[in-house]
Amino acid sequence: MIYADNAATTKMSAAAMDAMTACMKETWGNPSSLYGFGQNAKEALEQARADIASVIGADPKEIVFTSGGSEADNQAIRSAAALGAKNGKRHIVSSAFEHHAVLHTLEALKKEGFEVTLVDVHEDGLVRPEEVKAALREDTCLVTIMYANNEIGTIQPIEEIGELCQKHGVLFHTDAVQAIGHISVNVQRDHVDLLSASAHKFHGPKGVGFLYAKKGVRLTSLIEGGAQEKGKRAGTENVPGIVAMAAALQEAADRMETDAPLIQKRRDRLIEGLGAIAHSALNGDRGKRLPGNVNFCFEGIEGESLLLLLDDKGIQASSGSACTSGSLDPSHVLLAIGRVHDVAHGSLRLSINEETSDADVEEMIKAVEEVVAYLRGFSPIWRDLTTGKKQFIL
Ligand SMILES: *Cc1c(COP(=O)(O)O)cnc(C)c1O
Repeated sequence: MIYADNAATTKMSAAAMDAMTACMKETWGNPSSLYGFGQNAKEALEQARADIASVIGADPKEIVFTSGGSEADNQAIRSAAALGAKNGKRHIVSSAFEHHAVLHTLEALKKEGFEVTLVDVHEDGLVRPEEVKAALREDTCLVTIMYANNEIGTIQPIEEIGELCQKHGVLFHTDAVQAIGHISVNVQRDHVDLLSASAHKFHGPKGVGFLYAKKGVRLTSLIEGGAQEKGKRAGTENVPGIVAMAAALQEAADRMETDAPLIQKRRDRLIEGLGAIAHSALNGDRGKRLPGNVNFCFEGIEGESLLLLLDDKGIQASSGSACTSGSLDPSHVLLAIGRVHDVAHGSLRLSINEETSDADVEEMIKAVEEVVAYLRGFSPIWRDLTTGKKQFIL
C-alpha cells in the first residue's frame, strides 16, 4: 500500500503521539484552574506556544490556538474585515484558487457589504505581486493569498506580496496550511500580519491548528464564552492536541533541511515519469512547488475512475482536493489556471512525503501508465480525440 495523499492529511508522527499520550496521562488538568494540576497544563500549553512561535519567527503572544486551518482562516479574515469596516474600508483582495475556508468566508463577507477582487492565477499556478499591487484601493483592508496551493502545490511570492502590503499599509493574511513544516516560513521575513496553520498537515493530530496575528492586529473572537486565549478564542484549550502539534512542528522543522531535497528528488522523478505519458500535462510551475506535490492532467479520462483503479492497485491518491471529491464539478483550482472542463476532469494529485521510497515512485509511475492506457481504451472522449473528431488540447 502506498499512501500518496499527504496534502489531504498526514499520519501522526511518533513524537506527536508520545507528546499527546504523555499529556493525557500527566497534564490533563484545565489550564485555567489555579491549583497545581491546572498550572501544569498551563505550563505545557505555554511551552507549546513558545515552541511554535519560535519555528515561524513569532512572539508567543502572537499565537492563538484554533480547531484547525479552517477556523484560523475564518478568524483571520473576519478580524481584518472588522478592523477595516471600523475605518470605512470594505475591500478585500484575494485569488481564485484559495482554499474554500477562505473563499467561502469572502462570499459571506460579500453578503455583508464587502467587495472582493480576485487576482488572476496564471497558467503556472502563480499569482503576480504586481497584479496584487494594481488591485489595491484606498479602501482595501486586507490581502489574503495562500502560501502554497493545496492542489497543485505552487508556492506563491509571499515575501514580495507581504512587502508591498506593508508598504501600502494593508493587512496581509496567508493561509500557510500546506507550507508550514514543509518549506521555510518566517513571519518577519515574509512581512505577514496574519497566518493560518493546521497540525494534521505536518504529522500532528486533526482538529487543532493556530493563527498567528502580529502584535497590534486585534482579533475578533468567533466563539463567545470564557476568556481563554486572552479572550480571542473561548473554550477550554485542546491541550493534548496543542502539545502534539508543537512536537510535530518542531520535528518537521528540524528535519526539513535533510528531508525536503530527498522528497523533491522523488517528486521530480514522478514528474518525469508521468510527463512521458502521451497527452498529459503537469499542473503548476515545475520548480516553484512544494517538495512533495505532483499534479497532472491526462486527456481523455475521468479522474474519479483513475483514483478507483489506482486504489485497487494499492495506491491512495486524490484528484486534487478532499473537499471537492464526490462532486462532479471540476476543481476550481484547475479552472483558475485555465484548464478547460474536460481536461480538468482528468486530474491526479500525488502528494508524497519522507516515507515514500524510490521503489514506491516507480510503482506509482507504472500503475498510472497502465490505468491511463486502460481507461483510454474505452473512453468515448479519447476515441473522438484519436479519430480527429475532437482536437487534442494537451
Ligand atoms: C487542509 C487545508 C485547510 C483546512 O485545514 P483544516 O485543519 O482541515 O480545517 C485550509 N487551507 C489549506 C490550504 C488546506 O490545505
